Amino acid sequence: MTTLEPLAGPSRPDAAALQAAVERACAGSAFLRAKFAAAGVRPDEDLARLPFTTKQEIREIPFLEYAAVPAERIVRIHSSSGTTGRRTICAYTARDIDDWAEMFARCYTYAGVTARDRVQLMVGYGLWTAGVGFQAGAERLGAMTVPTGPGNTEMQLEMMREVGTTVFGATSSFALLIAELVEQRGLCAELALRTALVGSERWGDATRARIEALLGVETFDIYGMTELWGPGTGIECERHDGIHIWSDHYHVEIIDPETLQPVPPGTVGEVVVTTLAKEATPLIRYRTRDLSYLYADPCPCGSPYPRIGRIQGRSDDQVKVRGVIFLPAQVDVVLAEVDGAGSEFQAHVERDGNGRDLLTVRVEGDGRPGLAEALRRRLREKIGLSVDLDLVAEGTLPRSERKTQRVFDHRDL
Ligand SMILES: [Zn+2]
Repeated sequence: MTTLEPLAGPSRPDAAALQAAVERACAGSAFLRAKFAAAGVRPDEDLARLPFTTKQEIREIPFLEYAAVPAERIVRIHSSSGTTGRRTICAYTARDIDDWAEMFARCYTYAGVTARDRVQLMVGYGLWTAGVGFQAGAERLGAMTVPTGPGNTEMQLEMMREVGTTVFGATSSFALLIAELVEQRGLCAELALRTALVGSERWGDATRARIEALLGVETFDIYGMTELWGPGTGIECERHDGIHIWSDHYHVEIIDPETLQPVPPGTVGEVVVTTLAKEATPLIRYRTRDLSYLYADPCPCGSPYPRIGRIQGRSDDQVKVRGVIFLPAQVDVVLAEVDGAGSEFQAHVERDGNGRDLLTVRVEGDGRPGLAEALRRRLREKIGLSVDLDLVAEGTLPRSERKTQRVFDHRDL
């Protein structure tokens, strides 16, 4: 078992460790070996020369062919939902599970959670990575876990009161749902909540401010994905300025998704990860499709772990409207700036009879005079396009228990 040292660890990966990890992955994985041979690349070459791995490859290759260890060393698998086609299956050795619990315990420590906390886990169990990951980390820390799983809001509130829950883990969609329910019922004073670890989808500052205000909690944005263990592979510190990533377990590059070349710190690009010690399904230059950027400087909190920006979106949920790239994160920024705007929105892209793209942003707001005009003007400035604005009352747009869809592209492309 590895020890928990929240503030220890390298700020940049050791080149020898990175190379050893790639060589180990290729030695064990029939798929990676064949792939490197086909590309005419040796595992001991510079990382920048190695081929990328895509989500599609991981989804299509039978996981035992991808795995870098024999099946008898695999103790568990997890799988993410397949919105298109096959599910993605990722495998874990006993050591992988142990490393994940250690990383997740570190996340809780960064969020100020201790063994005295009672942690309610309103996230998916079963094949999903969230529930078991959140639980293993909390137990490693010595906290009391309350594994309620997602959904069933009545039971969630009942357990919060009964147990005196101080911390919860949830998607931002579900956290908002709970927060609004607590507000409607006037329950906030009866609850002991103080901290929330929120992740699995991009969420804006307006949503965040609303969850924090309604529940009286401090929220921490937590990072992860099934292919990279699951949630718990990075989190904000108390400064809430970027996500610390556990660089002793994986290396991050940020690339331009079109040229595939690295971009400098501060420039938004696609997050590419290479795992350093993951045994069963290691990743080599895996294109996550998450959009973020690297910070050039160490965090003033004193952590040796580097930071990436909060996730700006996914390279596959950015859409081009009249030749301009539109990202849902741009709307989030505007909603956090304009007084009277709510946190929830949908963006609809359509094409009119003349072949012209139309962008309609449907936003919740409190209906104060001038709000629609202020939003329309700021959205046009931020996105660089004129926008049709559809202002609706707060609570009108659908709340989801898992992830909320923001962009609806109705064009026949
Ligand atoms: Zn920090």
